[in-house]
Amino acid sequence: MAQDYYSVLGVDRTASPEEIKRAFRRLAKEYHPDAYKGDKREAERKFRKIAEAYEVLSDPQKRAQYDRYGHVGPEQGFDFGPGDFQRTREAFGEFFGRPFEDLWSMFFGEGVRTRERAGRARRGEDLEYRVRITLEDAAFGAKLRATASRYVPCGRCGGSGLSPGTGLRVCPTCRGHGRIEYRQASVFGTFVNVRTCPECGGIGELPEAPCGACGGEGRVREKGEIAIEVPPGVEEGARLRIPGGGNAGAAGGPPGDLYVTVEVQPHPLFRRKGEDLELELPVHWGQLVLGATVRVPTLRGEAELKIPPGTDPEAVLAVPGEGMPRGRRRGDLKVRLKVEVPKKLSRLQKRLVEELLETLPPPEPPQG
Ligand SMILES: [Zn+2]
Ligand SMILES: [Zn+2]
Repeated sequence: MAQDYYSVLGVDRTASPEEIKRAFRRLAKEYHPDAYKGDKREAERKFRKIAEAYEVLSDPQKRAQYDRYGHVGPEQGFDFGPGDFQRTREAFGEFFGRPFEDLWSMFFGEGVRTRERAGRARRGEDLEYRVRITLEDAAFGAKLRATASRYVPCGRCGGSGLSPGTGLRVCPTCRGHGRIEYRQASVFGTFVNVRTCPECGGIGELPEAPCGACGGEGRVREKGEIAIEVPPGVEEGARLRIPGGGNAGAAGGPPGDLYVTVEVQPHPLFRRKGEDLELELPVHWGQLVLGATVRVPTLRGEAELKIPPGTDPEAVLAVPGEGMPRGRRRGDLKVRLKVEVPKKLSRLQKRLVEELLETLPPPEPPQG
């Protein structure tokens, strides 16, 4: 049988809002964890009732409803979830000058557990990964699969870290405060220091029974495949972020991200210069003189390159669109000519060159 809200606060049905607040204040002090000498569980239960009564009776609308229909219980109107007790919180902060959240887990049962679970939850760590890709993969993009060991949500407890069918309990070390006060003597006197509770990590609650598979962490380490998508045109040393690709969070927290650093292997033929590729192409000096059409290798396969007659040996010729992609554009393949001078000539070849040279005037010496 639910207790009447008025009698919980010890006030008349005609009590003014001020009287109700005063009564709540007196009771909140009485069941304050720093003051209450008896069983903490008892205080917790009692405080929850007080808060519920105050929450209803301090709200004119809820109070009118309560006066009219009597005690209807959570299933018939007053359903307190973790986000409720707004008035209680405000009044509490007013009385004690500290946030109600500090004492929240001390007093509340089920409704609050959801919030506490969220409190235990921690985001997973970011992970770093290095991939070595070919220049072709850098140019056209690639979907890679890598094997890595990382935390994944625990299958047994679904990430909560709790043994199935169990909940959370108030941390015995800090009594739910999440912090521990300790005194430290020094030459200047005694100081009261506060530090985070090592038992519960400042959360104030602990699993009643941690999940056997993950030891309460809500995640387990597993070797698995990770999919890495390298976008076309990726630069050497680029750091790609894969949201959610890192470690699973603890106790149901969100996963971290995966950062992939891309290393591009040197290519035997091509060198990358921004969005262009460079290639060195051996040509015969006669091809420069007379002009020629030659085939050049590209990342995609092959392309035709026209060497115009009378091309300078230092000339750099371009094959448009055969470089690296950048946005919607594509760089060029810059072909650097490497003129090969024949070292061994037959008697006939030698005579032909001599005859040719006799017909060509020698180049002018440089003039200062
Ligand atoms: Zn603790
Ligand atoms: Zn588990």
